[in-house]
Parts: sequence; structure tokens; C-alpha cells
Amino acid sequence: MNIPSRIAVANTPTPIQKLDKLSQLLNKNIYIKRDDFTGNEWSGNKIRKLEYAMHEAIQQGASVIITCGGLQSNHARATTAVANHLGLKTHLVLRGNKQDHPQGNLLLNEIMGAQISYLEPERFNTEYLSFMEKLQSEYKQKDITAYIIPMGASNGIGTFGYYNCFQEIKMQEEALSIQFDTLVTAVGSGGTYGGLFLGNLLDHSAKKIIGFNISSTPDYFKSEISKIVRESLSIMNYEAPFSEDEIHIIGDYEGIGYALAQPSELEFIKRIAVLEGLILDPVYTGKAFRGLYTELQKGTFEDSQNILFIHTGGLTGLYSFNTQFNF
Ligand SMILES: *Cc1c(COP(=O)(O)O)cnc(C)c1O
Repeated sequence: MNIPSRIAVANTPTPIQKLDKLSQLLNKNIYIKRDDFTGNEWSGNKIRKLEYAMHEAIQQGASVIITCGGLQSNHARATTAVANHLGLKTHLVLRGNKQDHPQGNLLLNEIMGAQISYLEPERFNTEYLSFMEKLQSEYKQKDITAYIIPMGASNGIGTFGYYNCFQEIKMQEEALSIQFDTLVTAVGSGGTYGGLFLGNLLDHSAKKIIGFNISSTPDYFKSEISKIVRESLSIMNYEAPFSEDEIHIIGDYEGIGYALAQPSELEFIKRIAVLEGLILDPVYTGKAFRGLYTELQKGTFEDSQNILFIHTGGLTGLYSFNTQFNF
């Protein structure tokens, strides 16, 4: 098997902790993998994918990284941080308007000096891909190689970040003398799920990989994730047949839309924070963990005993929800 190279910058292996009170409450062993600890400036899941994308970018002679996302994109912020660290420039294409007093991830992006093109939401939705390509050709005219990283770094190359995380989990299982039968993650652009799925597939391991989509629909992500995994397999020059039906995505917890929070979801985040001293974010992990919690209460994962939830980060984005919490 031909695994591509990476630039190792993430603070890994990230710890695995048991959530004692929730385990008792839900009658399962619930563990959490702290991928929110992968760094400070590049905290969260994106850095694992960026380790592979950045290696490819540098190999291709890039000096500018172009990527995109929402105003509070964790991915955009992690990209700027790691690009600065590696001596590259970042050009972000963000969905929304420039803000006078930015918060959260946008504040960090401005502090770190990312060049930002702001596109109105409607324009972003239809044009972000062509806009990034246009930027790339403008750089090319100036003899600058710019490398485009897609939304969330969720493509064939980025997904190796979570293939690698799967190997990390296996080593931790040995060290901790525990076997996780179920891995759970939020699904936003699919690369995190895709990498865990790829690890499971190539390992012929019988772990259940459960995703909770935080936007769009399970069907959309099943097809997106199989595309990503096929692309990874083709980079590896390796064949491993699988069916889309093996991809388990549970809907119903995306709420009123991407990056939009409802009071019940914010209440849930508060409950977990009080119970375990654990902060989830309103955009991804809060929705996914609420999904896991609710499904466990319904008895959905009856044969799961040892469940590992991947905390994919997002704390910096939480601060932009300050006016929406009630105390
Ligand atoms: C991007 C993101 C996710 C989703 O991961 P994907 O690989 O894009 O599906 C989950 N949690 C956080 C905090 C994220 O920033």
C-alpha cells in the first residue's frame, strides 16, 4: 500500500478520555478522542488532513494556498496557521461580508494576516470553485504557484489524515487494552468520516463507523464520501471494493441548517459542559454528540459497548454564538 507523505505538525497522538458520568447515564462505555487538542492555532480535525495537503502543495512548488469556507470556518483558520508556520501565504475565499469587529476564527484569520476575498453568500454558493480557480490563474500570471485545497480539505489526499488517525486509534487500543466497536464523528465535508472508513476497510476491521451530518442529507454524504474514498484508493493505487451502503450517516440532527443553532442544541451543549466539563461546539460536535446521545437513549446502537466519539474541535467558532446562549 502506497500511503502519501505528510508534514507532521499536529499535536498527536491526541488523548482518549472516558466520559464517566455519561457512560453511567447511558449505560455504555463512552470515550472521547480529543482531536480538539491537535494544536491551539490549528486545533481540530482539519490539521490532520492539512498535513497531507500541505505536503503535496510544497511538492508542487506552491507558495500560496487558496482555500474556502464559511466566515467562521475552522478549516480556513487552521490552513492560515499551518501555512504561516511553513512559510506559505494564504488566500481565503469566505462566504459573507467583511466585519469591522470579527470574532472567533475570523478574528484569528485577520490577526494571522490571511488575504481574504469575501463573497456574498449567494455568490459564494454558486461561484466559490470558479472563483478559486480564477485566483489561481491570476497568481500563475504573476509566476506564483498557488495550490487549491477544497472545502474542509476533504478530498482523496486530505482524507489520509483520518486514515492515519485510525492507525493511531488502533495503537491506543493496545496501550489502553480496549477495543472500540464504534467510532462516531460529525460529518461536514466528509473527509474525517472517509478516512476512518478507509482505515476500517483496509484493516478488514469490523468497527462500526457512524457519522452525523450537520448539513445537507445522509444520501448526499454517502455519495460524497464514497467519491472521496475511491479517490484515496486511486492515489494509493490499491483496490478495495466497498458499497455505499456500508457508509452509515444518520440524519435528523442537522437542525435548521449549517452553522445555525437552535436553543435546544445550545442547551445540550450547556448540559454536557456542566456534566463533564467538556465543551462542544454549536456547528459540528454539539449536533453530532446530541445525535449520539439521543440515539443511545432510543436504544439504537444496541450491540455497541465501547464507543469512541471524535471531538473534531470548533471551540474558536463557539465564541461567535455568544449572543445566542441563555444563562
Ligand atoms: C470541519 C469540521 C468537522 C467536519 O469534518 P469533515 O471532515 O469536514 O466532515 C467536524 N468538526 C469540526 C469542529 C470541524 O471544523
